[in-house]
Amino acid sequence: MTRILIVEDEPAIALGLEDDLRLEGYEVEVASDGTAGARLALGRPYDLILLDLMLPGRNGLQICREVRRAGISTPILMLTAKAQEADKVRGFELGADDYLTKPYGTLELRARVKALLRRAGATPASEWFRFGEIEVSFARGELRRGGQPVDLTPLEFKILDCFIRARGRVLSRAQLLDGAWGPNTFASDRIVDNHIANLRRKIEPDPAEPTYIVNVRGLGYRFDL
Ligand code: CA
Repeated sequence: MTRILIVEDEPAIALGLEDDLRLEGYEVEVASDGTAGARLALGRPYDLILLDLMLPGRNGLQICREVRRAGISTPILMLTAKAQEADKVRGFELGADDYLTKPYGTLELRARVKALLRRAGATPASEWFRFGEIEVSFARGELRRGGQPVDLTPLEFKILDCFIRARGRVLSRAQLLDGAWGPNTFASDRIVDNHIANLRRKIEPDPAEPTYIVNVRGLGYRFDL
């Protein structure tokens, strides 16, 4: 399993990164300040470190320097804001391998992470996301249950993708319509329920007592792992 450490103090960015990298199949740990970040980076083995520049406690440049001084060669991807051009150069001097300028796109993030891991000789993440006996690859449009392929409609894939990205959080039917059907859809709440019933039959151990896609009364659905 490829392990990635994220050191980022902005919760929304940290969560977005964590979700995205988990979905790509990486094992992810998050530190929300420089002190915790340095402790983890120096204390545990990682295949890649995503390091924000401006952090409470210790900043990204300091952590970068400490990690390299400790003889740790784990690739470091610095997260910088546009205005921090000079810091970027300093980051390279201190041993950072690459940088990503915020705001960045998901595809760019994935590509840079993969490239750094490849350069470092780490195993690239599998593109399969697993829960229970289910394995799903959104990139390949495939879902397997107990190793056997299961046919999902494109909409079911999109719904499942929405759920996995938002796992642990409630999604309203309106959010699911927006996420899976797209904005300005004419589909109704009832349609959402029908598709979820079908999806449950394909992924739940007992569709009558769902454990992954659970109802949250009055609010919508939540994907639990
Ligand atoms: Ca920051």
